[in-house]
Amino acid sequence: METVRGLVDAARRVQTEWAARSPEERAEVLLRLRRIVADRADSIAWVIQSDTAKIGAEALFEVGVACDYLRYLAHMAPRFLASRKAKTGWISHRRASVRYEPYGVIAAITPWNFPFAISMSTVNTALAAGNAVVLKPSEHSPATGKLVGELLAEATELPDLVKVAMGDGQTGAALVTAGVDKIAFTGSTATGTKIMAAAADSLTPLVLELGGKDAMIVCADADVQRAARGAVWGAMYGCGQVCMSIERAYVAAEIYEEFVEAVVAEARQVRSADGPDAQIGSMIGAFQREKVERQLDDARSSGARVLLGGRAVDGPGHRFEPTIVVDVDHDMAIMREETFGPVLPIMPVEDDEQAIRLANQSEYGLDASVWSRDSERANRIAERLEVGTVVVNDHLINYMMADLPFGGTRGSGFGRVHGREGLREFTRPKAIVEDRIALGREPYWFDGTGSGEESISALLDFRHGRRLRQKMAGGWRLIRNAVR
Ligand code: NDP
Repeated sequence: METVRGLVDAARRVQTEWAARSPEERAEVLLRLRRIVADRADSIAWVIQSDTAKIGAEALFEVGVACDYLRYLAHMAPRFLASRKAKTGWISHRRASVRYEPYGVIAAITPWNFPFAISMSTVNTALAAGNAVVLKPSEHSPATGKLVGELLAEATELPDLVKVAMGDGQTGAALVTAGVDKIAFTGSTATGTKIMAAAADSLTPLVLELGGKDAMIVCADADVQRAARGAVWGAMYGCGQVCMSIERAYVAAEIYEEFVEAVVAEARQVRSADGPDAQIGSMIGAFQREKVERQLDDARSSGARVLLGGRAVDGPGHRFEPTIVVDVDHDMAIMREETFGPVLPIMPVEDDEQAIRLANQSEYGLDASVWSRDSERANRIAERLEVGTVVVNDHLINYMMADLPFGGTRGSGFGRVHGREGLREFTRPKAIVEDRIALGREPYWFDGTGSGEESISALLDFRHGRRLRQKMAGGWRLIRNAVR
């Protein structure tokens, strides 16, 4: 079996050839990949399901997200990667531009919760920018990771362009220090912190997409029934194992009772038992279910009330009941730490100010949502939330919009994926300065008689002198010095 360093070396050997292709040629390959993926959507979804115990709709959704993102990348990457002219400021006799060059080999380390969509998005963005990739999928979703590698090899016809490092966390740790040029990590804040420390020695740059504790703010003027339906979907989708799941709701006191009642009624309808009509799948494993149970026990022992659910579902897998919790506060882990399960704790607030303060009182800062009938009010609140994305009257959907940069603040990481910002994460901007007018001697060089102070003073007068006479005098002195 090849070592992790061997995989990086193999990817590096083919990267130069890949980078030599134009962005348009690389986009053609991405479109070919999109066709392959779309044609095999059902069989790909089945692999995702067998890895993660997701329901069919969720698995198919991952395939759809990947296809849509490929389409976006193929159409937009050539434009976003085109070199741009730059202003030259006071060095106006030169011409300047910025080129977006690939890093080389990217380490893409991805989690199990969206093993296809996240791996495809990270790998394909890196490829679009001209990089090669070593992908380290999660040990909990190995078949999907392997499949991503196979699909890429078929579409690119370069089997070494995307290498897959199968293994556990130790394989990931080995990849971080295997001489890659940048690390794109999606996973927990705890692992992200370790990776950043490991990358520090070699100053390897990284983009970190980490955990979340998304808040939902429901204003007094919200459509309560719609907000309740949205809350249940946003908190329970994917069995709550989504980085941007709604993990806490702050609800205006005036509508709190009505909202809680509507949420409980809605959540009661969610089918979590095994079977073809299940609306949420199983949790990934006992380790994740036990973490949720620990948080619920801690909350109960501090006075929280579980109005619905709170227990594992009997039967195969690691299913968990949709769970609604009230009488919670920020002393409880359930309001501070990432839960990653189908659990919604709800807290009443006096006004928008208190909601904003509590929403910002978090180690995380991924996404948030504001629910109100008043768009100006929602936007005023959105401006003050210290997160990467705010959605008004919905949640989660920003990830489906390929043109939006996605990423967080604080413990949710830094850097962005998606959008032009995400594409440029995988490039090194290189500045090029060229002649526009060639002079025998530059005004800022040693001028043969002194330090160049006279020329700099003339330049300052010419560009920044307050009076026209001062500017003109500066200009003449510059010309005289240049031709001397
Ligand atoms: P982990 O941090 O446990 O694992 C993520 C990846 O890192 C896996 O491939 C894992 O391998 C690998 N890994 C583990 N230890 C190391 C190490 N020391 N060095 C390098 N790599 C390592 O996250 P989960 O897989 O449990 O995913 C869930 C987390 O991901 C949640 O916190 C969620 O919020 C976050 N997430 C964030 C997203 C975002 O875009 N912000 C999107 C999706 C999820 P292995 O699994 O084999 O141990």
